[in-house]
Amino acid sequence: MPKRSKKPPLAEDTDRNLFPFPCPKCGEKIIKPGRWFKERDEFVCPFCRHNIFLDEDQRLRFFSEHIQHINNLGLVKRIK
Ligand SMILES: [Zn+2]
Repeated sequence: MPKRSKKPPLAEDTDRNLFPFPCPKCGEKIIKPGRWFKERDEFVCPFCRHNIFLDEDQRLRFFSEHIQHINNLGLVKRIK
């Protein structure tokens, strides 16, 4: 279980949905399951090797934008 539990957790559903995170430097989309983004605060873009930092606010905004988008289009992708 993640250690930071002070904030209300995002819906568990997001753990297994795939989210495209656009790299701020090269614009390529890093597509990973929601859980992957929750487990780390920073990661390296596999395309341009740019270090990407994801703080809690950015993470929440990222998820809420995408969840809305996914819900609107009905394009929920899941991994098992
Ligand atoms: Zn990049």
